Amino acid sequence: MCGIFGIVGNPEASNLTYLGLHALQHRGQESAGIVASDGQDLRAHREMGLVADIFNAPVLEKLPGNAAIGHVRYSTAGVSQLKNAQPLTVEYVGGQLAVAHNGNLVNAQELRTQLEADGAIFQSDSDTEVVIHLIARSKQPSFEQKVVEALSKVKGAYSILFLTDKKLVAVRDPNGFRPLVLGMVKNSWVLASETTALDLIEAEYLRELEAGEMVVIDETGLHASQPFPPTRLGRCIFEHVYFAKPDSVLFGTSVYETRKEMGRQLAKEQPAPGADLVIAVPDSGVAAAIGYAQASGIPYDVGLIRSHYVGRTFIEPQQSIRHFGVKLKLSAVRQVLKGKRVVVVDDSIVRGTTSRKIVKMLKAAGALEVHLRISSPPTQWPCYYGIDTPSRQELIASSHSVEEIARYVTADTLGYISMEGLGSAVGDKERTTFCTACFSGKYLTGNLNPGATSVSESNPKLATA
Ligand code: 5GP
Ligand code: SF4
Ligand code: MG
Repeated sequence: MCGIFGIVGNPEASNLTYLGLHALQHRGQESAGIVASDGQDLRAHREMGLVADIFNAPVLEKLPGNAAIGHVRYSTAGVSQLKNAQPLTVEYVGGQLAVAHNGNLVNAQELRTQLEADGAIFQSDSDTEVVIHLIARSKQPSFEQKVVEALSKVKGAYSILFLTDKKLVAVRDPNGFRPLVLGMVKNSWVLASETTALDLIEAEYLRELEAGEMVVIDETGLHASQPFPPTRLGRCIFEHVYFAKPDSVLFGTSVYETRKEMGRQLAKEQPAPGADLVIAVPDSGVAAAIGYAQASGIPYDVGLIRSHYVGRTFIEPQQSIRHFGVKLKLSAVRQVLKGKRVVVVDDSIVRGTTSRKIVKMLKAAGALEVHLRISSPPTQWPCYYGIDTPSRQELIASSHSVEEIARYVTADTLGYISMEGLGSAVGDKERTTFCTACFSGKYLTGNLNPGATSVSESNPKLATA
């Protein structure tokens, strides 16, 4: 998973991109980069780490021009390297090109093997580089046509920005897995993964890019088209559950409101009669916990405090003191929990290891009973569209019943929201416009589960964007 941002027609392009990336930092903390165009040359700066640590005034001064794109990259195990940091930049026969990609291509390995057999040399492990090779090899006359030809060959998830010396091209894949929105600030066009980035720079939110839409912005203005055949929408439901920032408007609805509604649905489906209070696992469980409290009438309280100084990329000092992990991030409030029957709401259970530690922490702080409520259905299948979920074997719900998971995490009771409940919370009870594969195993780009009746296999080893 990643965040992308782009702006055209603004003398402060790289400064505004820096702010936009800062607002999108939750979408990726491994590396960040900005590429700016002054109409002649592209200049790039990429580093490992957080946006605020990488960029400062002298660095941004070296990125002049009226157009820029930027990227924050999600941490995926094993491939945490500068060579995979984006935007990627290349020089090819058509000139200079920079690319920022959010998503994951499921046939990247297949295409890469073919390209390498034809003599292509790759600089990174990233699936995004495949798109660059396909563009460079295209015989189409215009840059836009090259982009369309290249993207017609790839399958999977992409919200992607291309910057040349003269134009910015933005494309959202035909399933619309990942978000991408269009805005405007002082006559400059802005593109961003989420509306929270538009809000920060005081840009007006105009609309979401349609699934399969291409937008070209150059000195003649903005040109939108639909170059791909329409297909079933597959907007990532997990963006609403966990990934996006709550203040964003995503796929047309407020993330905060949908999460709160998930909590209300959860309270109806999985009540906890006799409980004294509802608490959240911060930050991801907060909105759903408030919804649960409202619908159940059980008071909401703050039983867990999150440290703001431990990032997701926090490196634990050594194996022998690893068990401090969750305690570094969360601490329990004894005064709230002591002697209480507590409902604790979280957004998802992945491996179950964090949840187990949280339940133990609540009991150690004096909670009499812990009733764990989860605002998404059991996560049983890996994501191949850009969210870094572990392999199927590591997903506890792929091989354990709800009762078994409850026992493992040592909760007195455990309840998940239903698929229908989640669907209705995001405004699509039948889930005909969303991807739900990590819960349902129904992959929109063919069956991708190794071990299942697989028609084509993805390559989880490739770095995701
Ligand atoms: P578990 O109990 O499975 O060890 O961890 C569950 C926690 O992981 C939940 O609080 C949830 O917010 C968080 N989570 C869910 N998906 C992701 C993800 O893709 N990346 C990270 N870093 N955390 C996640
Ligand atoms: Fe989102 Fe899950 Fe689909 Fe991946 S599999 S795109 S996380 S809904
Ligand atoms: Mg969480």
